[in-house]
Amino acid sequence: MTDTSMLAAALGYARRDVRVLPLYEIRNGRCACGKADCISPGKHPRNSNGATGATMDEAQIRAWWAKWPAANIGTATGDRFWVMDVDPRHGGNESVMQLLQQHGSMPETVMVNTGSGGRIIVLRGELEAFLAGLPGVTAAEAAENATARRP
Ligand SMILES: [Zn+2]
Repeated sequence: MTDTSMLAAALGYARRDVRVLPLYEIRNGRCACGKADCISPGKHPRNSNGATGATMDEAQIRAWWAKWPAANIGTATGDRFWVMDVDPRHGGNESVMQLLQQHGSMPETVMVNTGSGGRIIVLRGELEAFLAGLPGVTAAEAAENATARRP
């Protein structure tokens, strides 16, 4: 992955109305913050005000990734959208199919493949009640940030 692609990906989220923020990246297998006991390697904000400072402003996004070209991309959640974590090992794909049958098509959205073979789907609106009782899908209601990686 080139550094340019991180900027391009961040701008891509912003164009889809997703507020982004720069996160520390993993460098040589360790969090770039340099703390040996980092509790959230590659997933905590580089900007001073974290998710509060997340933005769709192109100039700000360009400035951040000019300063930290390899920064991971964080997305602010909870206000304008939620993220749905789909875990195929626990029936998540079947739950998504069930939702599609009940509610019709998925709205145009951002979908990210995760390292574990799952997917994160970004959706607007409260998801917690919507997903209640369905196996393998969870709403990221507690986390203020989700790490967004390119597929
Ligand atoms: Zn760190």
